[in-house]
Amino acid sequence: MRIFDAHCDVLSKLLENPDLDFAHGREGLDVTLDRMLASGIAVQNFAVYLPERWSDDFKHILASIDLFHERILNEPQMRFIRTKTDLRLVSNEKRIGALLSLEGVDALHGNLTYLRILYRLGVRSVGITWNRANWAADGVLEPRNGGFSEAGRGLIRECNRLGLIMDVSHLSEKGFWELMEETDKPVIASHSNAKTISPRLRNLSDAQIGSLIRTGGVMGITFVPPFVSEEEPVPMDRILHHIDHVCALGGKRHIGFGSDFDGIREWIVGLEHAGHYDRLVNLLLKHYPEEDVEQFIYGNWFRFYSEQLPDE
Ligand SMILES: [Zn+2]
Repeated sequence: MRIFDAHCDVLSKLLENPDLDFAHGREGLDVTLDRMLASGIAVQNFAVYLPERWSDDFKHILASIDLFHERILNEPQMRFIRTKTDLRLVSNEKRIGALLSLEGVDALHGNLTYLRILYRLGVRSVGITWNRANWAADGVLEPRNGGFSEAGRGLIRECNRLGLIMDVSHLSEKGFWELMEETDKPVIASHSNAKTISPRLRNLSDAQIGSLIRTGGVMGITFVPPFVSEEEPVPMDRILHHIDHVCALGGKRHIGFGSDFDGIREWIVGLEHAGHYDRLVNLLLKHYPEEDVEQFIYGNWFRFYSEQLPDE
């Protein structure tokens, strides 16, 4: 079955350790070409995320995009997805589609020229913050729980104008509601779970999930163990609780997956790297009709990106 994953941090690991082997590595990376081919990943979103010590420095964003080309897109089985046409081509061929995203706008320093340059380089979604505050908005771990700055509101308007998708994973709750008020496009949560099931700060409340659903967004259920369940270790079937909950809120056509592979240091039992994704598919098939599983694992993200990516 074709799989669409909305968030991984391979680029961040390659930035810190250029010796890692994306194609065939067995150590150090969760997401590799071999593993994606083995489990059936058809589209993978690669996030540019800068470690905190570099988070202010735009040149590291450019270095990450350079690595994306040199180390990932250089593999003949990979295809860069920038447009609706690219996505359609990937769905008709055996190559794996690679989307490019930014996680945290810190290094843009309020300068929308940088944002437009990134869009022209193929970045198609932007997480406004990581966990802390930046010039645009507060992240979810910023204790004051502030929302958007005036410059941040300018960022929302420019993203809307460009057609750059905004990602609310890591954004403060106040920021979330301000964004929903301001934006005229649907937003995504690329790697977030339901707070009612696992009460971690970074998970989304029922009201947030409801709002995302009503406005046509998609949320990627993530495999970060404490965001799935408070048990230790976390069995794979606990993911189903989040799916059932989002479905109960009316979100059957708004669920996808955003593993956060390579951004995590602990894993769900049996779901330790991208090559294990087919195990999740088999588990889902035991609990849901096949057509629903296809939507969760691929179709809902595919439909969203088919609508939101630029024509060309
Ligand atoms: Zn993240």
